[in-house]
Amino acid sequence: MKKIVILGSTGSIGTQTLDVIRKNKRDFKIIGLTCNSNIKILKEQIKEFKPLAINVPKKFNEEFKNLKIRIFNDEEGLCHIAALKDADLVVNAIVGSAGVEPTISAIQAKKDIAIANKEALVCEGKKIMKLVKKNRINLIPIDSEHNAIFQCLEGRDIKEVEKIVLTCSGGPFRGFNKNDLEKVTLKDALKHPTWKMGAKISIDSATLVNKGLEVIEAMHLFNLKLKQIEVVIHPQSQIHGIVYFKDGSVLMHAASADMRIPIFYSLYYPEKKENSFVRLDIGSRNLKDNSQTAFLKWDFEKVDLKTFEGLKLAYEAAKKGMNYPKKFNEANEKAVKLFLEGKIRFLDIYKLLKKAIK
Ligand code: NAD
Ligand code: MG
Repeated sequence: MKKIVILGSTGSIGTQTLDVIRKNKRDFKIIGLTCNSNIKILKEQIKEFKPLAINVPKKFNEEFKNLKIRIFNDEEGLCHIAALKDADLVVNAIVGSAGVEPTISAIQAKKDIAIANKEALVCEGKKIMKLVKKNRINLIPIDSEHNAIFQCLEGRDIKEVEKIVLTCSGGPFRGFNKNDLEKVTLKDALKHPTWKMGAKISIDSATLVNKGLEVIEAMHLFNLKLKQIEVVIHPQSQIHGIVYFKDGSVLMHAASADMRIPIFYSLYYPEKKENSFVRLDIGSRNLKDNSQTAFLKWDFEKVDLKTFEGLKLAYEAAKKGMNYPKKFNEANEKAVKLFLEGKIRFLDIYKLLKKAIK
């Protein structure tokens, strides 16, 4: 039985991880949960999964005082719970750069990590990958594109790879021009066409900054050069990652757009187990009456980098190297927060990113 700590258990990835564990209770035991604000959900999770420890902001301690549970607080506590003695696997489902330090702490404590938090590798990729190697732990990506590439690379040497391609749905504004983007609202930006996610990543997906962060994440995770990583628009979100090998073979990973599939993979890694998530049905002929079901159609398009500057700016930050990606991420977190608070307009996010890079 694997003992699991989930950092950010109340968010979109956190609750989906618990959903997978709920369906496979015999294989996993939750020993730690953390949350930043949604105490009500955390209380329900404690009742159901009975963790040994939690981490919450100190101001909430009163709420849990009657429980026989170890309570950690704030950033320091997050690093402690990420290194909990009995943990076999830490799932990092925190949003933003708050995910950096607990990742480092878990690796130093020699814990395997299933990582959804992309900002950690964007900000401290070199340091984290060095520690992963030194401490010989498994860092398994949950982010669907990286999970796809990780699976295509299983058993291969990265030297055999020519390039990889990350697919991108295009977000809610695919096909828009700059004029259209002038008019979009927060509500429009939060409406992702294929995935249901937390607020920050939804906005990042609309600006395409998300894909930029993913390019930087992939660079570190797979030890690739920036020029070996490409992005293509694939509106169906069914192919998640593509690897071009030097011998001319191209491996692609496809699955339904359900984050529980890469989460399930990461929880059971290195085993591949059976589950009952919706299968991707490419289409087939019914042998009985020869009738044909609908066949899937997969489209690929070029990214409009002129309109969706978020991706172009992320490449620029990655190319400059040093602490540019970290500063780019910091500026983006601030800009998204302002946009979510209704203080700036959609295109102002790009303006703030350009200013940061300059
Ligand atoms: P979310 O906003 O739904 O949840 C975030 C979680 O982190 C919550 O539990 C929250 O309490 C906690 N948190 C927020 N700020 C914190 C802080 N300062 N300190 C400690 N904890 C904090 O986010 P999400 O959509 O689940 O995304 C989490 C991460 O996974 C992000 O980095 C995102 O880019 C990545 N990711 C998400 C998806 C998805 O489908 N949601 C897919 C791929 C990658
Ligand atoms: Mg992704």
